[in-house]
Amino acid sequence: MTANLFDILARSITDAGATAIETLAGEQISYGDLVARTGRMANALVALGVSPGDRVAVQVEKSVEAIILYLATARAGAVFLPLNTGYTAAEIAYFIGDAEPALFVCDPARVADLAQAAEQAGARMATLDASGLGSLTDAAEAAAEDFATVPRAADDLAALLYTSGTTGRSKGAMLTHGNLVSNALSLRTAWSYTARDVLIHALPIFHTHGLFVATNVTLFSGASMIFLPKFDIDRIFELMSRATVLMGVPTFYVRLLEDDMLNVETTAQMRLFVSGSAPLLAETHREWRARTGHAILERYGMTETNMNTSNPYDGARVAGTVGLPLPGTEVIVTDPETGVELPQGEIGMIEVRGANVFKGYWRMPEKTAAELRANGFFITGDLGRIDDKGYVHIVGRGKDLIITGGYNVYPKEIEAEIDEIPGVLESAVIGIPHKDFGEAVTAVVVPTGSPTLTEAAIVAALEGRLARFKQPKRVVFVPELPRNTMGKVQKNLLRDHHAGLYQA
Ligand code: ATP
Ligand code: MG
Repeated sequence: MTANLFDILARSITDAGATAIETLAGEQISYGDLVARTGRMANALVALGVSPGDRVAVQVEKSVEAIILYLATARAGAVFLPLNTGYTAAEIAYFIGDAEPALFVCDPARVADLAQAAEQAGARMATLDASGLGSLTDAAEAAAEDFATVPRAADDLAALLYTSGTTGRSKGAMLTHGNLVSNALSLRTAWSYTARDVLIHALPIFHTHGLFVATNVTLFSGASMIFLPKFDIDRIFELMSRATVLMGVPTFYVRLLEDDMLNVETTAQMRLFVSGSAPLLAETHREWRARTGHAILERYGMTETNMNTSNPYDGARVAGTVGLPLPGTEVIVTDPETGVELPQGEIGMIEVRGANVFKGYWRMPEKTAAELRANGFFITGDLGRIDDKGYVHIVGRGKDLIITGGYNVYPKEIEAEIDEIPGVLESAVIGIPHKDFGEAVTAVVVPTGSPTLTEAAIVAALEGRLARFKQPKRVVFVPELPRNTMGKVQKNLLRDHHAGLYQA
């Protein structure tokens, strides 16, 4: 029996007539269509010279065709490499130079811009539009529907997915068929997903959240998803009347909360709201519950491991936590210096082991050896603790930990206090080199526009609420925080930008 994710998906289809994907343009693709069209696309890929193990790099706007290409790549035994649509030609040149794909697929408008990068990487180029030059879609239409899916072992690569680049240069994570399938199946169980579910899919599909969480769990459940090109409040309100699940990043929920339409009635049809990719503020969780009666289910994952933990579907969804380890996944907390497991409750490095954990970083054997232990545990880079009920709490990234005068300071705790101060929209707390303290706690604050908000006002508001060593030495005001496409604050950019703050 083959472990190719397509084979496992195809075997799980019980109703070929059920809708798999629906678009705003009114297109409806059934599971039967999906299988037929991936067969044609897989034939087109092979005709273009794609062999098992080859990478197929893809930078295209969200579309049904892109999902067909993903599944067809799996059928052909090749490795799917989705790339952020925001990447510039120079960034693409770096990624495809690193990954050396056999084929690079992009939108027609970008062909001229990216041709040189593709040539340098030795990749053939194709597009996904209908009737364009080098169109894969046309080639697929002319191709036969039957395709003998290439058998794959659970340990064979299915995808090469670059990390978001929040803490530095993106790394290519090698994900196997076994990783993706086990993740989809464990989420299906954990979230009680069934064929009756209808997902509002408003996430990009070049990231683990939109592709390996949202898309996979839906397809492996025989459920359907409605594709929105991007987050669109009006559409989401419209669709909530006939959908059952929404998956989003925390900013989705913050923005929906700003809308008066959000209430018990407008969300009555929905059964599940999921949040991930970045921390959901406890306040957002509480407000959402008060307004809609639904408790947002927060979960924690990453490119390298898919999903690690989730708050329970049945059971307490605890605000400010990322929940319990998913079935088949172990989570421990270790001493960052010694790697020894810490007693329950102590803060340390979160490590994860299970069928969801990737095979290593692409062409980075040293980094892989340093972060993926021989015993199977992956050192996530996130700091956290496990409480007495087994819930995991993330306190921040290891790289963002501030060591000031010998004390460890977790930025999240201070940010939570600052964000409560009237006139503050949001904040990021970072450590900046300082000759006396090593690093000085520094707050970067985005004001709401209130004229009374000053550095002195913030310092005064924090007085007595935080231990002295946790109080910011300086507060800097900025109009907005730098964020990547998944809405994550890029603290490395802030640290670089303010590096000289304490130099005399
Ligand atoms: P890079 O590894 O390139 O610096 P990245 O870590 O942001 O980028 P991703 O793999 O997309 O790339 O993101 C995974 C990270 O997102 C996790 O390690 C964690 O820090 C953060 N994260 C995900 N879900 C949550 C959550 N629910 N709460 C807090 N943090 C989360
Ligand atoms: Mg990371």
